[in-house]
Amino acid sequence: MGQAITPEPDFQRSSFVKSCAYCGARFAVFLSRQAGSDDEEDYGCPECGKGYTAHAALEPLVSLLAPRSDGKQDRYQETMF
Ligand SMILES: [Zn+2]
Repeated sequence: MGQAITPEPDFQRSSFVKSCAYCGARFAVFLSRQAGSDDEEDYGCPECGKGYTAHAALEPLVSLLAPRSDGKQDRYQETMF
């Protein structure tokens, strides 16, 4: 096919705002995507730690925009099976 893979990283940056389904905090998620290298990457709510996944090449960065709105201090408990 003759389609060479570019050796240097060529990340596509994108971001979006997420509202945590558990605690109501709002935070920005910054993704670095790269064609052919995207995978399921984990990130967590900066307030309660609830885990989410995004399709990206690198681990997403998160920046808190608004604190949690549920008035609690607890951490999200991941249910492990
Ligand atoms: Zn949260």
